Amino acid sequence: MKKTAVFPGSFDPFTIGHEGIVYRALNLFDEIIIAVGANALKKNLYSVETRKKMIADVFRNVPSVKVDHYEGLTVDYCRKKEVKFILRGLRTAADFEFERAIAQVNKVMAPEIESVFILTVPEHAHVNSTIVRDIIRSGGDASMFVPASISLADYKTDEE
Ligand code: ADP
Repeated sequence: MKKTAVFPGSFDPFTIGHEGIVYRALNLFDEIIIAVGANALKKNLYSVETRKKMIADVFRNVPSVKVDHYEGLTVDYCRKKEVKFILRGLRTAADFEFERAIAQVNKVMAPEIESVFILTVPEHAHVNSTIVRDIIRSGGDASMFVPASISLADYKTDEE
């Protein structure tokens, strides 16, 4: 049976940190669904559609990576897709505490689903979408933080 993981996140925008986690997870899974969570309460820089396009462009030559979006609970989305693994990345102890709580709550809600964590490489430990958004909003050059295969100039923000 094909082993699939859902990689849920805001990805606003998708960074080299996210990209690294996906490529490393492809050693563990046959297929990764990168699922952009549509959270109406968050003030996003890029629309869900733009984020999906950006991610699809990064993985345009990697058929085992799919891109989707969802609303509501991640475990409900996984059940709908019949996926048994949730993939997340870890940078710091703060990430660990945050991810631990989410994964343990998810485990209570959906015992059949396993959360799998990949620890980031040291050179990506400081890469953070919030900071990248601030750089873009302030007109700075954020190209070194996003995958080399895309150019941020190709994507319109929701604030333009
Ligand atoms: P969320 O709003 O769900 O935290 P993010 O887009 O910020 O969405 O992150 C999605 C996942 O990617 C999270 O598990 C996060 O810890 C992980 N992640 C974010 N940045 C990095 C990075 N630089 N290296 C490794 N993992 C990362």
